[in-house]
Amino acid sequence: MKKLTLSKRCEYIVQAEIRTMSIECEKLEGINLAQGVCDTPVPMALQKGVTEAMRKGINSYTRYDGLQVLRRAIAHKLKTFNGINVDPETQITVSGGSTGALYCACLALLDPGDEVILFEPYYGYHVNTLDAVEAVAKYVTMRPPNWEFSIADLEKAITKKTKAIIINTPANPSGKVFTLEELRGIAKLANCHNLYIFTDEIYEYFLYDGKKHISPGALPELRDRTITISGFSKTFSITGWRIGYSVAPTAELARMIGYMNDLIYVCGPAPLQYGVAAGMRALKPSFYKKMAAEYAEKRTLICSALEKIGLTPSVPDGAYYVLADVSRLPGKTGKEKAMYLLRKTGVAGVPGEAFFHRPQDGYNLIRFCYAKDKKELAAACKRLERI
Ligand code: PMP
Repeated sequence: MKKLTLSKRCEYIVQAEIRTMSIECEKLEGINLAQGVCDTPVPMALQKGVTEAMRKGINSYTRYDGLQVLRRAIAHKLKTFNGINVDPETQITVSGGSTGALYCACLALLDPGDEVILFEPYYGYHVNTLDAVEAVAKYVTMRPPNWEFSIADLEKAITKKTKAIIINTPANPSGKVFTLEELRGIAKLANCHNLYIFTDEIYEYFLYDGKKHISPGALPELRDRTITISGFSKTFSITGWRIGYSVAPTAELARMIGYMNDLIYVCGPAPLQYGVAAGMRALKPSFYKKMAAEYAEKRTLICSALEKIGLTPSVPDGAYYVLADVSRLPGKTGKEKAMYLLRKTGVAGVPGEAFFHRPQDGYNLIRFCYAKDKKELAAACKRLERI
């Protein structure tokens, strides 16, 4: 029999380094600061909502763009928290997490060969999603410790083929929070070259030191070209529920994103959608404030531990990851350094090359995730001292 082949697409799609480190960590029974799994409890209002939905019989397919209660709750949150006014009937698509939301938006709005600009260090799934739709990723470098980028670099990266820019604020892995000035700079170029903005705001509630979250879609100059993407995995510690959403500037775009969502997921899990809506209605601003304060404490804990052992951290302004300078560890690559650290201390992080298109740019960085129970995080910090 002639050999059956894989699609060419498989050549680009690599298994995330994050998974590999998690597997290595498990083998050594270490503490996993590689993966962004929040192990804090799911708010009771969500749990009750899901049970109520199942009892009430909300167990069938929902509309392809999500349950009305959830779309309405999202529209309310967009208005009050993000400063974005949308029609919940026509502009929101509830999807399989924010990952699914981005994939559906890319399927609907990008053609093979379209170029899309990403800020580097980037979140690997953004690149893989572009690869999956055969778009071409282009990169603009952000530099530590504040992860600033130059507008001139962004302008240089734009070609006739550029169709979109991806913003992630607050960002994984850098913790960068885009400022109004930066967003205005991006907006000027996006308007001049007629580009979409895809913005992944999954960490919108994770901000420190009084930093403010600015949604690009809330800026008048970006409103008509922005696809806002977010979800509930992080805020409510429900990474496995797979509920996220996209917001499109027009009903026409939202409809096509929604059709892609129908094709791939049909709909989000019905009782879980209902549970998230119940949670959004029940939880007060104090819930989000308290969460950010708790994560700020965890950030201090891990950053001081890293500082103490000479793995200088770039202290993040948002999200729940920290990139540390690991140049003092033995090894040529980030992977070798991360494996050394894991063997020596039993703490797993992600090698920096996972976040750069030129691997060598990440060889002296390791990312640690501090979305951990405080006791476990403290134990990890103690172990790090063994270095
Ligand atoms: N975007 C970013 C920037 C992330 O870091 C993650 C999780 N690692 C996701 C999206 C995934 O979110 P979801 O569970 O909503 O698909």
